[in-house]
Amino acid sequence: MPNEKPLLSLRDVGKTYPNGTVAVSGLNLDVGEHEFVSLLGPSGCGKSTALKMMAGLIPISSGQLAWGGYALADRAADLSFVFQEPTLMPWATVFDNVWLPLRLRGLGRAACHSEVMSQLESVGLGAFADVYPRELSGGMKMRVSIARALITKPKLLLMDEPFAALDEMTRFKLNNDLLKAWERDRFTVVFVTHSVYESVYLSQRIVVMAARPGRVVGEVGVTQPQPRHESFRTTPDYSRWCIEVSQALAHSGEMAQVSA
Ligand code: ADP
Repeated sequence: MPNEKPLLSLRDVGKTYPNGTVAVSGLNLDVGEHEFVSLLGPSGCGKSTALKMMAGLIPISSGQLAWGGYALADRAADLSFVFQEPTLMPWATVFDNVWLPLRLRGLGRAACHSEVMSQLESVGLGAFADVYPRELSGGMKMRVSIARALITKPKLLLMDEPFAALDEMTRFKLNNDLLKAWERDRFTVVFVTHSVYESVYLSQRIVVMAARPGRVVGEVGVTQPQPRHESFRTTPDYSRWCIEVSQALAHSGEMAQVSA
């Protein structure tokens, strides 16, 4: 962790759903300021559940979750969440979708105009402010979703497999744009994915999880310096990290089978 004081701290956090499913058990994790951490693991290992607990969207069942020493509820305004689906309002323009979080804080359209436009420009959609979501490709919709998440200048951006539904070329482009935004605005990211390649490309640290019960089984630090560019994907170092992470993941599968 690059910073001494964690922005987000989970101690022995567990989540049991009302139907008795133990989705997460004994989760310990510190996330530093301006860190980029991925949660990687097979479907059902509790990644989304962990992220939702970090966001305060669902309560934890056991343990402690703190954010910079404050209760998470006090800091809810400082975090944003990006889901796998862009979840845009179909009846509203791109501009109005991105303006929404500021509007909910009582800020008028005129007062927000330059901020919304500059956020749209930073995701390459400056020329699309007046169009409706139905006119956009999947990648463009996700760019709007990210712009909407970043318009409030969050300290913490929680992303739940945001690019999983996109084709590979679009996904690569959005990976690069996300890294640029992260370097520019210095927010912290916790990124959920089941792609080894994506996690290595983006993250400084990869937390490997296993299922039944969902838990952390390994951690890999990706020390490749930032900023990273497309050329990183074809380097021997990238391959080495992908192998290391794949092995940790394979090991997590074996452990899950043993404990099942
Ligand atoms: P992942 O994101 O890694 O795919 P999830 O956090 O979605 O994993 O799910 C972890 C486990 O919890 C799974 O067994 C899943 O079926 C279960 N689960 C998720 N949400 C609920 C819920 N609302 N009620 C009951 N079980 C759930």
